[in-house]
Amino acid sequence: MLTGVRMVFLGGDARQIEVIRKCSELNASVSIVGFEDLKDKLVNISRNKLSPKLLETANCLVLPVIGCDDEGKVNTLFSSDSIELTDEHFAALSPKCTVYTGMAKSYLRKVCIQYGIKLVELLERDDVAIYNSIPTAEGALMMAIQNTDFTIHGSNCIVLGMGRTGFTMARSLQGLGAKVRMGVRSEEHFARASEMGWEPFLTRDLEYEVGNIGLLFNTIPTMIVTAQTLSKMPQSAVIIDLASAPGGCDFRYAEKRGIKALLAPGLPGIVAPKTAGIIIANTLVQLILDGKKIRGDGE
Ligand code: NAP
Repeated sequence: MLTGVRMVFLGGDARQIEVIRKCSELNASVSIVGFEDLKDKLVNISRNKLSPKLLETANCLVLPVIGCDDEGKVNTLFSSDSIELTDEHFAALSPKCTVYTGMAKSYLRKVCIQYGIKLVELLERDDVAIYNSIPTAEGALMMAIQNTDFTIHGSNCIVLGMGRTGFTMARSLQGLGAKVRMGVRSEEHFARASEMGWEPFLTRDLEYEVGNIGLLFNTIPTMIVTAQTLSKMPQSAVIIDLASAPGGCDFRYAEKRGIKALLAPGLPGIVAPKTAGIIIANTLVQLILDGKKIRGDGE
């Protein structure tokens, strides 16, 4: 149980509602800011405005998946008021408070170091990234289906990058009967891809591999689908770029060649906000409970 844990939630989207619900069910004392337009009834949760006073007694400050921008602005889907975290707010936090987010930008990292506050980036964790790869792959399949006139079954697909997202993507495509080729850069991944039944190749040879593809899913967060590679692809190919912005594809050149190339950020929050919220909630709760155990303040 989270009895005695004081949590403040600032902004977010539908995923955050799941996290708020779970923490409240586990008896945390929960205050939320930036949810004025939320119609759902949230029991035993106090709705507040952001102030240094609210933050003074918090043990946990929970920010949305993308914590805040480089001006301290926090994204709020359920409020028309904007929320801005300033020095005054960080100065009010106790050094024992932990800030949780999905991914932090440089401002948040810098200001937490400056005020000696622990920052936890949940999406950096392998377990969260692997669970999150499931709604990501489902969202990518949805986009593929919406943007092609052929079945995934039997289609020639390339997945670039065999990390946490790429692995799940390739396995999902394989499950639907696609012919999957996997672009990797290490011998280890080459061997594993081969063992999985995906035809592996080295990403340095990408331009020689794309001649007959129907779909390309990129998870490599660097410019990898270059103009040179695009010039060798069929015009009918569809590229779904899952790598974080700006992605790994030369979108300008793809458009010039008439190839459909789509940057697809934030799919878990779009296609499965409930599941994505539960993934975050489970990990957040476990981390807080582990912290309580270490400090010896469990019930
Ligand atoms: P990851 O586990 O680190 O996988 C990235 C893969 O890219 C690794 O296998 C890495 O190979 C490979 N790679 C990196 N640079 C390369 C290069 N120059 N040449 C060849 N391969 C290279 O990351 P992830 O969790 O799968 O996430 C991948 C990307 O998807 C990230 O940008 C992440 O933010 C994004 N993402 C997007 C969504 C969405 O909704 N669109 C959801 C989740 C994640 P090595 O192992 O050899 O280093």
